[in-house]
Amino acid sequence: MGRAFNFSAGPAVMPEAVLQQAASEMLDWHGSGMSVMEMSHRGKEFISIYEQAEADLRELLAVPAHFKILFMQGGGLAENAIVPLNLSQGGAMDFVLTGSWSQKSLKEAGKFGTARVAATAQADGFTTLPAPATWQIGADSRYVHICSNETIHGVEFHQLPDLKALGCDAPLVVDFSSHVASRPVDWSRVGLAFGGAQKNLGPAGLTLVIVREDLMGHALPHCPSAFDYKLVADNQSMYNTPPTYSIYIAGLVFQWLKKNGGIAAMEQRNIAKAQLLYDFLDSSSLFENRVAKDCRSRMNVPFFLRDESRNDAFLAGAKAANLLQLKGHKSVGGMRASIYNAMPIEGVQALVAYMREFEKTQA
Ligand SMILES: *Cc1c(COP(=O)(O)O)cnc(C)c1O
Repeated sequence: MGRAFNFSAGPAVMPEAVLQQAASEMLDWHGSGMSVMEMSHRGKEFISIYEQAEADLRELLAVPAHFKILFMQGGGLAENAIVPLNLSQGGAMDFVLTGSWSQKSLKEAGKFGTARVAATAQADGFTTLPAPATWQIGADSRYVHICSNETIHGVEFHQLPDLKALGCDAPLVVDFSSHVASRPVDWSRVGLAFGGAQKNLGPAGLTLVIVREDLMGHALPHCPSAFDYKLVADNQSMYNTPPTYSIYIAGLVFQWLKKNGGIAAMEQRNIAKAQLLYDFLDSSSLFENRVAKDCRSRMNVPFFLRDESRNDAFLAGAKAANLLQLKGHKSVGGMRASIYNAMPIEGVQALVAYMREFEKTQA
């Protein structure tokens, strides 16, 4: 069996060129006589890998100089605790609930301070985004949290909210785990953004944090040292041993992104891929997507068969056609196609062709 088209939500598809390069460098990285995973994180070889990865990411995402890029561990879920430990100062935080991931963030932050709901789209099953003008943000807010792409519900902010225009001086915290590097980021609207690597950047184990400098240095006294952004930043993400191999692979992904035209080109590809799939879903009498058109995710496309008794047949046929991991998240049901940067348009074309055929034969 050759490589399949893998629609997993995460860990997810990787660019094939990156896997090939990693394979060829596995035993001996650039004549060093070592695999990257055997290197000291303080040695000159790994430091060069780390510095290149950071510089490439800063260039790709156009991260301004007054933001620090941190390579951490713990995943998006650990950041749900690490962010309040660093930014809440024991005060109140406001959360916009747009799906499972922002709900989790709210719940965890409540352990470290007062976590409030500024707005929620729960009433319509998380198929819309509450308009920023309706958000209830306290004047004492330490930060406002959003998940800019809800991986499970398939809802995406196509524009980050402008909190200043809402009369709010609090920083915006963004969980961009599942669409980082799929589109440009307007850093003028962001205080801190975090994301696990395993959706769109590389292997699990690496967590990216990009934080405005003035927000560091205010951690609660009981914040673990390894999670104190200031300490991590002051030590170039090497206060403790960073996930070296994951950083190396993510660095190869950054080079692949640069070679393929950077984030602007990636965004155009992602728009084309998503449009292909959504256009088919909207024209189908068997399949449907229930998310409001103006906030549909370009990365995670949940969809349903109107006749759910055909779900198993759909998944079995997909597997036979080498289209893998299409089963929806158990909390939502149905199907989900995650079409991250590394999913080529050919994968989406093959999926749509299969769905078209399935619909015809089942009619
Ligand atoms: C996957 C995901 C997470 C959780 O990441 P872990 O690495 O499992 O902790 C958090 N937020 C979003 C939006 C995600 O997609």
